[in-house]
Amino acid sequence: MSQASSGHLLGLIRRGRATTRGELQRVTGLARSTVGSRLEPLLRAGWIRETPGPAESSTGGRPAVRLEFDASHALVLAAVLETRSARVALLDLSGRVLDEHVGPLSIADGPDRALDLLGERFTRLLERAPHRDGVGPARICGAGLSVPGPVDAATRRLVDPPIMPGWGGHPLPERMGAVLAERLGTDPALPILVENDANLMALAEQRHGHPDCSAFLLVKVSTGIGAGMVIDGGLYRGIDGGAGDIGHIRTADAPCVCGSRGCLAAVASGRALAARLTAEGVPTASGSGVRELLEAGHPDAVRLAREAGRVVGDVLTTVVTVVNPGVLMLAGDLAGPPFLTGIRELLYRRALPRTTAHLQVVTSRLGDRAGLIGAAVLLADELYAPERADRRLATVAPARSVGRTTSVA
Ligand SMILES: [Zn+2]
Repeated sequence: MSQASSGHLLGLIRRGRATTRGELQRVTGLARSTVGSRLEPLLRAGWIRETPGPAESSTGGRPAVRLEFDASHALVLAAVLETRSARVALLDLSGRVLDEHVGPLSIADGPDRALDLLGERFTRLLERAPHRDGVGPARICGAGLSVPGPVDAATRRLVDPPIMPGWGGHPLPERMGAVLAERLGTDPALPILVENDANLMALAEQRHGHPDCSAFLLVKVSTGIGAGMVIDGGLYRGIDGGAGDIGHIRTADAPCVCGSRGCLAAVASGRALAARLTAEGVPTASGSGVRELLEAGHPDAVRLAREAGRVVGDVLTTVVTVVNPGVLMLAGDLAGPPFLTGIRELLYRRALPRTTAHLQVVTSRLGDRAGLIGAAVLLADELYAPERADRRLATVAPARSVGRTTSVA
């Protein structure tokens, strides 16, 4: 029965596997009237909409009405935390950015201060949003936080994050929910997602640029180094959310922020390069400082980035051999030609030709927005998964007769 529930039909529509009533009948084996009654609540909630399909002129038949997920019926708040700044945005469920803001925020100040600042900035975004389409707290269906550290998938708390002292084990989702409830009047049980930054970036880039790639790997090199994997269309987090945490693999003998020695991030991250440049007489504060120098073509920054690319490429040789991805994407502050060249030099020299024959090594397409878009995509995947969609549909008020309404978890 659940195989053919409203949520199940929604899943087929969202994935593009069936986009007309006729196709839904064929795929599910349901009678036309049953398909109609299962679509009813989805149409009433405003989750899907009907649009006229192309006219079948040759047969003179009526054009089939197309069904599509209405990605703008609800909105998402998302924040990407970096070490010294935060990017906040209001997005629709497809990841379209309606409005965004970038401002200073120091991760070193701890989670409570950061959540207060985010609450303030989310409020400002909603206040300046155009109200003619009913944009307001009532249409927010969830919020997503992207963090530069490992996250436990079950509790959505950070686990011993090396560059986020004081954040480990903090009840981020509960606190964020409380801050938003107080400031915006949203449901305190509003779904709040906390996810590793490289994971969200990987999900966004895969879904928007490489939807057919069944093994997608993204490496983020900013202040730290991390990787995200999308396997068969979904995030691969590993048993403890530690998959892709390549920044603290031992490579050379240098002290690292995690307290250990010789980590990859201690020699090849934005933080490491900033320190090297400073020692060489080019004062550089952080990964974003290195980025500015690279964009200006500073020869020392270019040389060090290429060297760092080789060190990361050495580690990626093993990763690529294990995962055999179709796409390896470089993202973050250091994602540019010098670093990419360094990675390629090592990768093609060391890895087996079979593992690199069909491998595309590319740089990010979505850039600084990837994390925000990934948060919206992941939230939509979770909230509209068949069973959760069915539970939510049972409580959602109809959007068609009374205008836009709150979607509940
Ligand atoms: Zn380390």
